[in-house]
Parts: sequence; structure tokens; C-alpha cells
Amino acid sequence: MRIGILGAGQLGQMLGFAARGLGYECCFVDPSDSPPAASAGQVIRAAFDDENALATLAERCDVITYEFENVPVAALASLTDKVPVYPPLKALRKAQDRLSEKRLFDELDIPVPDYQSIDTRADLDNAINEFGLPVVVKTRRFGYDGKGQVVIRDASELDDVWRSLDSRAAIAEAWVNFDLEVSILGARNPRGEMAIWPLSSNEHVGGILRTTRAPLDNDVISARAETYMQRLLKHLDYVGVLALELFVVDDSLLANEYAPRVHNSGHWTIEGAETSQFTNHLLTITGRTPRPTAARGYAGMVNLIGSIPDAIREISGPGSALHDYGKTPRPDRKLGHITVVADTAAKRDDRLAEICKTVTQSTGD
Ligand code: AMP
Repeated sequence: MRIGILGAGQLGQMLGFAARGLGYECCFVDPSDSPPAASAGQVIRAAFDDENALATLAERCDVITYEFENVPVAALASLTDKVPVYPPLKALRKAQDRLSEKRLFDELDIPVPDYQSIDTRADLDNAINEFGLPVVVKTRRFGYDGKGQVVIRDASELDDVWRSLDSRAAIAEAWVNFDLEVSILGARNPRGEMAIWPLSSNEHVGGILRTTRAPLDNDVISARAETYMQRLLKHLDYVGVLALELFVVDDSLLANEYAPRVHNSGHWTIEGAETSQFTNHLLTITGRTPRPTAARGYAGMVNLIGSIPDAIREISGPGSALHDYGKTPRPDRKLGHITVVADTAAKRDDRLAEICKTVTQSTGD
């Protein structure tokens, strides 16, 4: 079985490694010079909308998938009569536009923060009046890791924010004083068989994921998140892995966004769950039954951003796994991650604290 993947970053790399375990081969399309996934399969160096490259991929592969959301949908749509493309483009289209995504959540009775579409300066004023400050303004398209968004804390910032939008369509969201950010991952195959992983809690700094802990010991929240995930998977006739990010406020959940792909907050599943998100993504897009997703102990994951300190390489050992994506260091760039698995949440938290301290001391973050 040959899997074609748009994007050869770290997610592609981890998909490629998981593919080997299933006896699958991966072929990637990516324009970058030395993409991480080059160590996990052949890379066709071309732009994501290069028609020849995509046609070659469709000829060579049994199924096509993608590792990031900002893939050109039109280019992928031209392949669907030649080869299956999963996750389905309907899920991708909605995820690419924050307004469509929010409306989908509304349609499925999945609660979201108060929001408003921003097309004019008056819309922005109305949103501030209605929600009160702070308000988060997010461009509808091409935002990720907190990019394309700004928090308005004072009315004096309104003019600058409106100007910075520069006619780009946006939404405004009420600021949520959440207790916790969580995410849930699910996988579904074309026959509708599903597997959902335990909920994880996530900490972001500057919009970028820093740490994940799983499983979250909260039955009420977990059951609710699982119901929302099932609704999304069924409604979208989904195939592959889907990640849903939510805010926890007391006992309720507000959906922030979903990603129609394997996700950074699911990296813990490689060592911390019976089956990783990467393996189940590959199984479900090839029509096979997803494997069990229960947690194996208590997992914690720390993203290594900007540099991988030597001291972190020394920590790596039994009960911990360092993943170095082989990327050239650059500020704010995700270069790798480290996962620890322990038999109690307290031991896991101690080890995470030690790792975070080492990262902070080494990088001054
Ligand atoms: P996003 O790109 O929408 O995932 O946002 C990145 C991060 O910004 C989230 O993980 C939150 O930490 C924060 N954030 C986004 N929207 C809100 C909101 N409405 N209220 C509070 N924090 C938010």
C-alpha cells in the first residue's frame, strides 16, 4: 500500500515512521529543501498546487492525505476522481474558514465562545459592545499557532486592529477565562468504525502548544468531549484522524477549533496510548479498522521549540522518548518533542516539571 502525503514536515515524518510498522510506503509532496519527512519516504520537491506533482502522486499512490490545513483544496479536488483523498475535503474546507467552522459547531449543538463575523468596522464596534473587552480578533483564513489573531484589551486599540486586518475577513470572539484547554482526537474509517483517544490537557504559550498531559481524569468532561467528537466524525462522513480543541469552563466545554489531520496535541499517543494517532490515521484512510486507543499510564509531552538543549538529550532514557525532527533551529520553530510515561499522574508531573525546568534554564524561555 502506498500513501501519498501533502506536506513533509514532522507530522509527515511521524506518519512515515508509523507506515513502516504497517508495511506501507509513503511518498510526499513538499517544496522545502530538506523536509523532516525525507527520512521516512520519497519526497517530490514541488509546490502543493503543482499539477504535475499531484498527478504523479495520484498515479503512484493508493490514497492521498495531508499533514496541514492550509492545503489548496482545489488542487486536491482535482484528484478525487483518480484516487481517494482523506480526510474528506468537506472537513478541510470548513476547517480553513473560522466562520464556517463556528457555524458547523452551532449546527451540531457543540457550544462555542460568543462570536461575530467581522466585515466592517461597525461589526468590530458591535462585537466589543456586545461581548465586552477583551475580544480576540482572528482572520477567517490562514491562521495557525496563534498567527493571524490579536487580542483587543482596550478600546484605544480598535483603529490599529481594524487597519491591520487590511480588508481580510475576520471573526471576533469573546475572551474565554478558561480553567483548562483540552483536546480530543478521534479516528473513523469509511465504514463508520470509530476510535477515540482519552482527553488531553494542553498548555499554550504565545499561541504555540508547549505541554500536553493525558489522560485527563475527569469523566464528565471526557464524556462530553467524546460526544462532540462522535457528532463531528459522523456529520462530516469523516475518514482519518480529527483533532478537536476545546476550552473547559467549570463543567462545560466550548469548542475552539478542529484540525482535519494528525495533531501536535496527539503526539503523546506514540508512547502513551495502545495505538498512536499516526497508525490509526493510516489504518482508517486505507479502510482498515482502527486499533484500541486506551492510555498506557500517564503521559506528558513537551514541545522543543527554537532549540533542543543538550541537557534534554541526556534526560532521554527509560520512560521517556525524545523525537528530534532533524530541522534547522530557528526561533519559535518546533524542532522536536519529548514524551514521558509514568504509572501515576504525580510521577508524570514531576518528570514534566524537571523537563520544563531544563528547557527554561537552557533556552532562557
Ligand atoms: P487558535 O489559533 O484559535 O487555536 O488560538 C491559539 C490559542 O489562543 C488558544 O489555544 C488559546 O490559548 C488562545 N485563545 C484563542 N481563542 C481564545 C478565546 N476566545 N479566549 C481565550 N483564549 C483564546
